[in-house]
Amino acid sequence: MKRILITGAAGFLGSHLCDRFIKEGYHVIGMDNLITGRLSNIEHLFPSASFEFYNHDVSKFIHVPGQLDYILHFASPASPIDYLKIPIQTLKVGSLGIHNCLGLAKAKNARVLIASTSEIYGDPTVHPQTEEYWGNVNPIGPRGVYDEAKRFQEAMTMAYHTFHGLETRIVRIFNTYGPKMRLNDGRVLPAFIGQALRGEDITIFGDGSQTRAFCYVDDLVEGIYRLLLSDYAQPVNIGNPDEISISQFAEEIIALTGTDQKVVYLDLPVDDPKQRQPDITKAKEILGWEPKISREEGLKRTYAYFCSLSEEELNKKDHNDFEKFTVK
Ligand code: UDP
Repeated sequence: MKRILITGAAGFLGSHLCDRFIKEGYHVIGMDNLITGRLSNIEHLFPSASFEFYNHDVSKFIHVPGQLDYILHFASPASPIDYLKIPIQTLKVGSLGIHNCLGLAKAKNARVLIASTSEIYGDPTVHPQTEEYWGNVNPIGPRGVYDEAKRFQEAMTMAYHTFHGLETRIVRIFNTYGPKMRLNDGRVLPAFIGQALRGEDITIFGDGSQTRAFCYVDDLVEGIYRLLLSDYAQPVNIGNPDEISISQFAEEIIALTGTDQKVVYLDLPVDDPKQRQPDITKAKEILGWEPKISREEGLKRTYAYFCSLSEEELNKKDHNDFEKFTVK
């Protein structure tokens, strides 16, 4: 039985990856320090003999006994609000965390796949973004802690690949959505759906002309699965190229939820990218992958998940008490 370590296992993407690898017959070792992840995302896996969980901060030395075949490094805060609340941890998990994962991989002779991001392209001047584009990132802006940690993570991973001959894979993940997203993490989709369900105004930042392209989580997981098992060590974009403006997106959510709340326009956050769309030519050619789930279908499934949450869950201002985490 192949053994895989998934860091960030209790997070949105990590928990979907745990499900997928269990389904594929792997022994999954999930790791998370639960700063932004939630045990409720993975508690259904605890009875399985194929799953074990370590409550551990990957920025600190990682010890996993026994054989390891694969490591997926998905631990990281991943929404602009989280970076503002926990900037130092965001930097540490992308830098110290990846160093620990790569060291562990080298010791175990395991293959590592790291979660990189479209944020490494910053506010892109090339559109759509190809893997060859080096990006336009402000290192000292509010997003810099995430963007630069992820860029460092790519550099470190390539260094282990070229210097130590370690087997490595890099996925650049574009905006992804689906069940198990945190309702109040500040991202646009849970923000709009949460507002609709609570009867609050829909908040568009800026004039809503900025664009994003949203990928349903099952499609993303399939792309990651194929990349891990491929022999391609260069970065690969995985995302859905179906680009939409944030105001059009708000209209779709309003139609989906039937809310009669009004739209209000708030200031655009600093360094908010004006446009974003993945060029997925590489994923198509190398992995034979492209997204299959339309936004209409994906949004329906995601809305059904948010509707299933309890009233208490829906009205929590945040799922995590960031105040208790002191920045060292
Ligand atoms: N956004 C918005 N209203 C919200 C939350 C986000 O208009 O209540 C905008 C945000 O400014 C950005 C886009 O939606 O332009 C996507 O934001 P998100 O935080 O989901 O992801 P990212 O900016 O990292 O792509």
